[in-house]
Amino acid sequence: MFLIYGHVCHLCGHPGATDADHLIPISVDSTQPIDPHAMRPAHGVTGCPECGRKCNQSRGNKQALPTLVTSEDW
Ligand SMILES: [Zn+2]
Ligand SMILES: [Zn+2]
Repeated sequence: MFLIYGHVCHLCGHPGATDADHLIPISVDSTQPIDPHAMRPAHGVTGCPECGRKCNQSRGNKQALPTLVTSEDW
């Protein structure tokens, strides 16, 4: 997955993402196949080194947000 999308978090737009975040949460559809194209890089338990968010956790079970184009204001 990281080979496709790199390590830029799709939730906050900063680099350093370590988790694969499912666009459709596993808790919503546990039967979905493990498809790298259905995942995006996101910051996990260690949080973002730039903004400190734990993006993968903070999003919870909400559906995927529109992909941020920039995070310059953050
Ligand atoms: Zn992030
Ligand atoms: Zn960030």
